[in-house]
Amino acid sequence: MKTERCPKCNSEMVDGFLIDRDKADRVQTWFEGEPSKYWFGMLRLRGRARFGVVTRRCRRCGFLESFATGPER
Ligand SMILES: [Zn+2]
Repeated sequence: MKTERCPKCNSEMVDGFLIDRDKADRVQTWFEGEPSKYWFGMLRLRGRARFGVVTRRCRRCGFLESFATGPER
């Protein structure tokens, strides 16, 4: 497997993911299109293409790079 290199400092990068601290039961997901909400404040997500998100971290400088995996469903 090819080791990914940091585009900032050319060091080794490692895969991971991001979570919101108040929503620690879910991994982040990328949804297609502009965000829009229902009148009660919840985001409209039905029918949108969705992808899992992998975030890679540089071991040396901490640079983060995210990319989509998927699509899901
Ligand atoms: Zn780096």
